[in-house]
Amino acid sequence: MLESFRTLWPYMRRYRRSLALGMGALVLKDLAHAAVPLVIRSSIDALTAHRPFAVILRFALLLVAIAMVRSIFQFWMRVILIGISRDIEYDLRNDLFAHLVSLSPDFYARHRTGDIMARATNDLNAVRMMLGPGIMYWTETSLTFALAIAVMAVTDWKLTIFAVLPAPLVSVAVMLFGRAIHERFEAIQAMFSDISSRVQESLSGVRMIRAFVQETAELRRFEDLNKEYIAQNLKLVRVSGLFQPLLEALIGFTFLVVLWAGGYQVLLGRISLGGFVMFNTYMGMLVWPMIALGWVVNLMQRGSASMGRINQITRERPTIAAPPSPVAIPRVRGEIEFRAASLIYPSGRALDGVDLDIPAGATIAVVGHTGSGKSTLVSLVPRLMDPTAGVVYLDGIDLRQLDPAELRRNIGFVPQETFLFSATLAENIAFGVENATQEEIKRAAELAGLAGDIESFPDGYKTMVGERGITLSGGQKQRTAIARALLRDPRILILDDALSSVDTLTEERILSSLTAVMRGRTVILISHRVSTVRGADSIVVLEKGRIVEQGTHDELVAAGGYYADLSQKQMLEEELESI
Ligand code: ADP
Ligand code: MG
Repeated sequence: MLESFRTLWPYMRRYRRSLALGMGALVLKDLAHAAVPLVIRSSIDALTAHRPFAVILRFALLLVAIAMVRSIFQFWMRVILIGISRDIEYDLRNDLFAHLVSLSPDFYARHRTGDIMARATNDLNAVRMMLGPGIMYWTETSLTFALAIAVMAVTDWKLTIFAVLPAPLVSVAVMLFGRAIHERFEAIQAMFSDISSRVQESLSGVRMIRAFVQETAELRRFEDLNKEYIAQNLKLVRVSGLFQPLLEALIGFTFLVVLWAGGYQVLLGRISLGGFVMFNTYMGMLVWPMIALGWVVNLMQRGSASMGRINQITRERPTIAAPPSPVAIPRVRGEIEFRAASLIYPSGRALDGVDLDIPAGATIAVVGHTGSGKSTLVSLVPRLMDPTAGVVYLDGIDLRQLDPAELRRNIGFVPQETFLFSATLAENIAFGVENATQEEIKRAAELAGLAGDIESFPDGYKTMVGERGITLSGGQKQRTAIARALLRDPRILILDDALSSVDTLTEERILSSLTAVMRGRTVILISHRVSTVRGADSIVVLEKGRIVEQGTHDELVAAGGYYADLSQKQMLEEELESI
């Protein structure tokens, strides 16, 4: 609870003026409410004293006036305080999203998408409920309590003691039940995360599920999760369902005591009938707060459980961030050096002391078995990851001294797995480049060998792709990604197996149009095709995260190692195909 408050205080501070207004309305509303029994006492005492009707009527009118004032302040209290909770929810959600965007890939390797989504929606909602209705009713209840008990004590302190007798019992119950509710609610939210993740994965993999006829199996797994979710919810209901009747029983018991002791006082003539009725009215006023207390405790516990879950994310720091005073490089030449670069994943070592010099403007090709560390190696350059040991330099500067955003602006990266957004082709190509002209987009598409395909689409460059649009072939996706990288006009171009899904003919065409583009830029080319890499200035063969061969095509063929084998095999294949 304290932790939630610490997180939320900076947000609440922003709205302190409205908060003060809302709280002011709350206080006035409660004051009006607390005045009602006082008027009732006076009117009943006037009745028993046989005062004229006009006096009674005046009290009645006063009651109506108080009720109106109370409603007006209650209205403003709700509008203002609930409004603030919405505003804070908005701020929290924006900050959470900004934070999520800033986190490094390792965070996303550790968390499932559905789980993150659940925290950003369901948990955020619980926090809002705590902030709005939670805090509002909490304050309202406490104030009503304090006011009612103050007036009661002034009237008859002995009777008041009877009335507040169950209060310690109520506190103990609230504490015990609160803890149980908190724990159960945490379990429920964790379950909800599981369900969200499952749904997200099933929907993303819906084609796989169809292709492998796993609909029923998938449904069954989902049903199991869903059943478990219900079971967890029922556990919570059992606790909170017990809480309310328990409170009501305590309240009923108090009424009984007060009626008995108070009635006795009236008979003895120690308090007036009006005073007795007033006392009971205050008691009645306390019933709702006591019951609301259960609900509010529920809201607060849920809210703080959810706040904790959200904080787990906001506490994550991007592992890759800009240093306090980054080194500026106004003009990147594009010389890249790896010095004893090693990278260890939780699953094992992917790079083992790689030393590699890539002169500015050179084209380097990387080949090797799947899993040899090629993708890992190139992901160090835009700092998607930092080496576990060793250093990577750009133009002689340790990459960690640069601002990653600045660094990445100079790099055109085509990852092995292409991702297209639900947007038009033009928007996908121009991703990350604001105010790209139509001509620039077209030129990038031409260089990537995609222009012909685009023109054959019904809507051309305005064709929607991704989940809500047409489905591109693997090769078309890859070429879109290449066009995207080229449009940035980067100093460094990295193609991670970016031509694997295009046929050899298209590949040749793209490569020849790229040759002109690649001139003067540093290019790292990953491929398993000799035809792609043979023209590179230098070819590197990776094996188990180490460089085992390095040289030009001719040198490596002469050396008779892995590359020579690969070259020979692919030449044979070509010959067989041409027969
Ligand atoms: P390549 O691109 O040559 O196929 P990778 O660089 O993708 O090789 O992978 C090298 C090794 O690191 C493989 O054994 C792979 O399983 C592992 N690996 C790659 N990415 C990750 C990751 N995000 N988390 C854990 N292990 C990984
Ligand atoms: Mg790879």
